[in-house]
Amino acid sequence: MKQNLRNLTIREMQELAAELGEKPYRGKQVFQWISRGAESFDEMTDLPKEFRRKLADAAEIGLLKVLDVQVDPGDGTRKFLFGLPDPCDADGETGGDRPSGNALAIESVFMKYSYGNTLCVSSQVGCKMGCTFCASALGGFVRNLTAGEMIAQVMEAEHETGERVDHIVVMGMGEPFDNYENLSRFLRLLHEPAGRNMSWRHITVSTSGIVPMMDRFGDEFPQVNLAVSLHRADDADRSRLMPVNRRYPLKDLLAAARAHTEKTGRRITFEYALIQGENDRPEDIRALINALKGMLCLVNLIPLNAVKETGFAGSSRQRAEQIAARLEAAGITATVRRELGSEIDGACGQLRLRRKNS
Ligand code: SAH
Repeated sequence: MKQNLRNLTIREMQELAAELGEKPYRGKQVFQWISRGAESFDEMTDLPKEFRRKLADAAEIGLLKVLDVQVDPGDGTRKFLFGLPDPCDADGETGGDRPSGNALAIESVFMKYSYGNTLCVSSQVGCKMGCTFCASALGGFVRNLTAGEMIAQVMEAEHETGERVDHIVVMGMGEPFDNYENLSRFLRLLHEPAGRNMSWRHITVSTSGIVPMMDRFGDEFPQVNLAVSLHRADDADRSRLMPVNRRYPLKDLLAAARAHTEKTGRRITFEYALIQGENDRPEDIRALINALKGMLCLVNLIPLNAVKETGFAGSSRQRAEQIAARLEAAGITATVRRELGSEIDGACGQLRLRRKNS
C-alpha cells in the first residue's frame, strides 16, 4: 500500500526523499507543499519531474471525499461529512444499514469565532465509549483515524471554505485518548514550524475521562488545552450516562484533572452538556460545585443537542444562564456555549446518523 504523505513528519519525508535517491531537502519541500494543501504532485512545480514521478509511485496524498456539507445560514457554521477511502463492508460498520461499497464517513465542523476560525475534528470512525446521549455511540466503533486523516479534515475544510483554520478542537466523533499515538502525531504535525506552525495553545483535546492518558498528555503536551466531558458530578449517575466512569470514577478523574493543572499551570475545561431533568436540577449543580470547588477550571455549559434516538432533551438557554450564574456565584468560572450550528445537526455524530437513516 502507498504511504499517505499527509501522515509523515518532516523527517520521515526527508528519509523518503533519500530512499528515492534525492537530497533530504527535497523531503522538506514536499512537506511544505503538503502543509500548504497541495492535492496533487503536479502542483509541486519546484521539484524535478522525475522525483515527482517516483514520489507518485511510492506515495499518495490522502484526500477525503466531500459527501455532504450543511451550512447554518445564521452563523456560517459549516458541517462536513467526509468519506474515507476504505469501503464500508457489512462487518466494518456495526449497526449500519448502508449498502457495501459506500465510503466510511466522518464529520468535521467549521466554526467562526471572534478569535478566529475553528475546526472540530473527528479522531475515530464511531466511538467505543457508549455515552448514552451521544449520536456517535449509536453507530458503534469502526476504526481509528490516522494522523493523516485528521490532517486531511483540516486541509479539506480550508479547501472548501477558502478560509484558514487557526484553531483546532478534537471534539468530533471518537475518543481521542483511545487513539493516542495517532492523535499525538496529528498534534505534532499541526505544530511543525516548517509546516502549519500552529501554536499549541490554539489546540484543544477533549476526553470522556481516560485517566492514564490524561496524565501522559499533560507530560507530553503541557501547552495543549485539555477539556474533560464531565456531565455529572455523582458516580452512580455519571456511570449511567457515561460507561467510562465505571473504569475511571470521579475521584480518579478529578485527581487527574487537579494533577494536570498543577503540572501545566493551566486551566482545565469541564464540558457539561445540560440535559433537561437529568443533570440540570439544583441538586445536580450543588454536586458539581462541591466537586470543582477550588480547582483552576472553566465549566463550559452546553445545552444538549437533542438526538432523537436517545430520548434526551436539552435544557433551555435560560436555565443554562441561571446555572452559569449559580456557578459564578460559587467562584467557578462558567460559560454557556454559543450553540453554533444548532440548526444543522451540529452535535457529535449527528450528521452521519442522519445520513445513515435516510
Ligand atoms: N470523546 C470525547 C470528544 C468527542 S465529543 C469526549 O467525550 O470528550 C465532544 C463533546 O460533545 C463531549 O463533551 C460530548 O460529551 C459532547 N456531546 C456529545 N453528544 C452531544 C450532544 N448531543 N449534545 C451536546 N454535546 C454532546
